[in-house]
Amino acid sequence: VSSAAANAEIIAVGSELLTPGKIDTNSLYLTGELNNLGVEVVRKMVVGDDRARLVQSIRDAAAQSQFVILSGGLGPTEDDLTRDAVAEALGRPLLFNQDICDWLEARFRSFGRKMAEVNKRQAYVVEGAEILHNDRGTAPGQWLAENGHILMLLPGPPRELKSMFGTLCLDRLRALLPPLAIRTRFYRVAGIGESDLDQIIAPIYTKYANPVTTILSTSGDIQIHLRARCSTEVEAEALLADLGGQVEAALGDRIYSNNGDPMEKVIGGLLRDQKASLSVAESLTGGMLGMRITSVARASDYFRGGFLTYTDEMKITQLGVPREVLETRTAVSEPVATAMAAGARSRTGSTYALSLTGSAGPGGEDDGHVWIGLATPDGVEARELRFPAGDRDRVRLFATNTALNLLRRKLCAL
Ligand code: ATP
Repeated sequence: VSSAAANAEIIAVGSELLTPGKIDTNSLYLTGELNNLGVEVVRKMVVGDDRARLVQSIRDAAAQSQFVILSGGLGPTEDDLTRDAVAEALGRPLLFNQDICDWLEARFRSFGRKMAEVNKRQAYVVEGAEILHNDRGTAPGQWLAENGHILMLLPGPPRELKSMFGTLCLDRLRALLPPLAIRTRFYRVAGIGESDLDQIIAPIYTKYANPVTTILSTSGDIQIHLRARCSTEVEAEALLADLGGQVEAALGDRIYSNNGDPMEKVIGGLLRDQKASLSVAESLTGGMLGMRITSVARASDYFRGGFLTYTDEMKITQLGVPREVLETRTAVSEPVATAMAAGARSRTGSTYALSLTGSAGPGGEDDGHVWIGLATPDGVEARELRFPAGDRDRVRLFATNTALNLLRRKLCAL
């Protein structure tokens, strides 16, 4: 099998995977493992318990891809069709294997049960197949070579499939593939939208087929994954340094992490290094900011605590926001955001304090309007954000990310 074009198809078998209640997750695991070997998954199929369709799908996949992995349909019942379909697709007979039958019988005996006659179906093996022992269930797997193509028949239950693939298939696959070094780099970026970011870096990364660049975006937080595959680690690192260097130069201080660390961890490191402390005052986000900050181990080194002040009255009594300001300017306003941050800072004695107030919606007049306050030893500042109304979760997550980025920029003196 040549490395450049090594590709695979996955066929998940089972009618229940075609219902709204069940999703094929085995192929996600398999894809990750195959990618690590340098094998690309070029197609996935989910096929119900329908013999003719399954035979056709197997023929199709085996004609086009070097590796075909089938998951499921190896059970003992009539609707477990994978063995029969593979045999038919390849035009090979199914042969009864006494060893498997004995093993199955012994397995049932060890649980104090007698093996049912139907279980003998599981002792049939496609002619020429190697048997893959199942250490977590009854369905043995099979490994088949056909005209330079490899087919793997694996059981459906994820824990059985993972164990079998991990212990029995990975080494066999590695032996067929040239050695491959994979190196990855994982940047995280804040303070820029996904399309603006893509406009900046697409002219750079589209010049490279290797490393492969993947961009993932969630409300106010963008991840850039670079993945280099070469025959040696040195070559892979050199490719990453080349492309990574250009990405870093283009994005500058909008990159807050070059090792995948989340914003709250980066901020925690900065606060700890600067021997500074932080507190929060939250209205809009109801504790999300505090939750993010405290999700990092040893956050108590720098995090003092927070105020969850949802009503005007709480903002007044807990943070000292002036009543007149709330009455004349409403809770979603610059002076309220700054008074909340200043109040949190003075009442906890922290070096910095972040506040969040806003209207997440939906259903209100001022939906999507957010103010962030930041109190520092040099004074208090505020930032206004406006989002399209309607998506409550998105507004709150975006506001949290933006607040954390505001603090990061302050801590880095940007
Ligand atoms: P068994 O001997 O347990 O019957 P099998 O190989 O016949 O094994 P299936 O009957 O197809 O496997 O599936 C068994 C269970 O495994 C299913 O009920 C389902 O929960 C899970 N499963 C099957 N296929 C998948 C898949 N692709 N992704 C996630 N779970 C799966």
